[in-house]
Amino acid sequence: MTRMTRRSFLEGVAATGAAALTQPACAASRPAPAGAAVARRAPAPLVIASANGWRGAARPDDPAPRQSAVETALALLGDAEVAAGKYGLLEAVVAGVGVVEDDPEDHSVGLGGLPNEEGVVQLDAAVMFGPTHQAGAVAALENIQNPARAAMYVLRYTDHALIVGPGAYRFARAFGMPHAELLTEEARKMWLYWKQRANERDDWLTPPDEQVEESVRRAYSGGTIHLSALDAQGDLAAATTTSGLSYKISGRVGDSPLVGAGLFCDNDVGAAGATGRGEEVIVNCGAYAVVAAMRRGLEPKDACLETLKEVAEKARRRGLFQDGKPSFGLSFYALRKDGAYGSAAMFEGGTFAVADAATGAGRHEPCAWLYDR
Ligand code: ASP
Repeated sequence: MTRMTRRSFLEGVAATGAAALTQPACAASRPAPAGAAVARRAPAPLVIASANGWRGAARPDDPAPRQSAVETALALLGDAEVAAGKYGLLEAVVAGVGVVEDDPEDHSVGLGGLPNEEGVVQLDAAVMFGPTHQAGAVAALENIQNPARAAMYVLRYTDHALIVGPGAYRFARAFGMPHAELLTEEARKMWLYWKQRANERDDWLTPPDEQVEESVRRAYSGGTIHLSALDAQGDLAAATTTSGLSYKISGRVGDSPLVGAGLFCDNDVGAAGATGRGEEVIVNCGAYAVVAAMRRGLEPKDACLETLKEVAEKARRRGLFQDGKPSFGLSFYALRKDGAYGSAAMFEGGTFAVADAATGAGRHEPCAWLYDR
């Protein structure tokens, strides 16, 4: 795994022909704050993410420092040259989630993501940039390791918001993104094991458990990274990137690349994102609802809880309930323009990642929750 330094970050940008870092920050694109939820003072840079955005403190026996998404994004926000670029904040967010996209051990995102039912890794991602209220997204994208970066290219270099499938692949290749084989050996074995067990009446024989490595037997149904960032100017950006639900039907698109569902960002109010069962986030416009609740004056955590309650209530009507609780997991993350933040999960026990300028280091904080386990 390569370590993202300021130098490699800047070289990566140059190699793809992006011009972001030469453009001055555009003060005029930052409207005056408005609304009850907004502070007038300049906030300190802050990054929040789903739990996989931080991997724990460095251990003394680590051969190399453990990179994390929130720390990578925060470090880039603190870099004067990056911060001066018009899209520097967005570059920092994309580099942050790129750490998890590049991690073969995270089976929910990018390289090593679990494939669809046909054994093909199909990725979804979206980014949103507060100062210009632009969005970019890609969906059902194959063979491109960093879909959030491809989404950023949609935002910056096209007049579109979402490009899907083979078109998205060709688009990413046009920007010099390499063709990558994303199905790792472990992910392939997990998929094969799922396939062998999926149907008792087909011709696949199920191997005895003792012949299958424990890591391969691990149940794994989804996962995603959402990351939102606030810079020193009070501007916001967000990204959500995922391999989606494991073993999904080919072509299925979840909430992550859909603006208003898997992420939303209103530079006057705040940013929000979701992880968990995407179908429920889509039908409730999840991330948009969280930002709208903050606009009405709710604290970030309460905005997440209110939206979860709405999702749960609607799910009850459709029978997605077991023993009086929703039959699926879901989490929301919210970052307000004044630097207040919070997260809530459907079930007790969740955490989310935070990195702030006070220490520059990441940490996990507990999510609020709606239902006890
Ligand atoms: N939200 C993702 C999707 O539905 C999956 C997840 O976060 O677990 O594609």
